[in-house]
Amino acid sequence: MALPILEANRYTCELPITKKKVEYRAFLVKEQKHLLIAGESEDNTIINRSVVDLLQSCVYTDLNLKEIPISDVEYLFVQIRVKSVGETSDLLLSCTKCEEQNEQVIDLSKLEMNMTVPDPHIKLNETMGLYMTYPSMGDVDMDDNSSETEQVFKLMASCVESIYDGEEVYTRDDMNPKELSAFIDSMNTDQFSELNEYITNIPRLEHKVSYECKSCGTHNEVVLAGLSDFF
Ligand SMILES: [Zn+2]
Repeated sequence: MALPILEANRYTCELPITKKKVEYRAFLVKEQKHLLIAGESEDNTIINRSVVDLLQSCVYTDLNLKEIPISDVEYLFVQIRVKSVGETSDLLLSCTKCEEQNEQVIDLSKLEMNMTVPDPHIKLNETMGLYMTYPSMGDVDMDDNSSETEQVFKLMASCVESIYDGEEVYTRDDMNPKELSAFIDSMNTDQFSELNEYITNIPRLEHKVSYECKSCGTHNEVVLAGLSDFF
């Protein structure tokens, strides 16, 4: 006799940046197992990939996870995690002074996204400027072994949506990666820091935790950000 099939509950949420309505289910035991194994690796490439795989299985809505903004992916992951394992997450945080491990319980249902959207228009001079867009998971080259600085440059380049020079507009289809990278290299430091500011101010899922160390009493403040901090 065939065993009965377990039907999963369906939930919906709205992604904070793209405002897309997404239908999803909680993750299953086998999926959680894969996630925990990825988490143990402490390797962001492996963690990001396993989160994308997991979301792909849990989301019913047609959604290209490599194209939507990373912030939306993070938000969606936390919603699914809350429905799957519960609203609290126990974290071990190292004291900045004595490195003692302090256990902190985070209420994931209370996480909020800082939604101040940076101005996508960056003026480079009187006639030239560019328009930026949010980075997506696909922009973070997952098999990339390049240095952190190189990765930041790549991320910046991938966020350039268009460049204009007077009446002339160059969209992504007009740019090859080499030309774009040379264009960014030719900026002066003021122009470059405006690009950097845009990237830094993109809404992220963040949570500030402050606690007194149980061993030495030092006041610690930590900002949790990124997928691996919210397992
Ligand atoms: Zn301490």
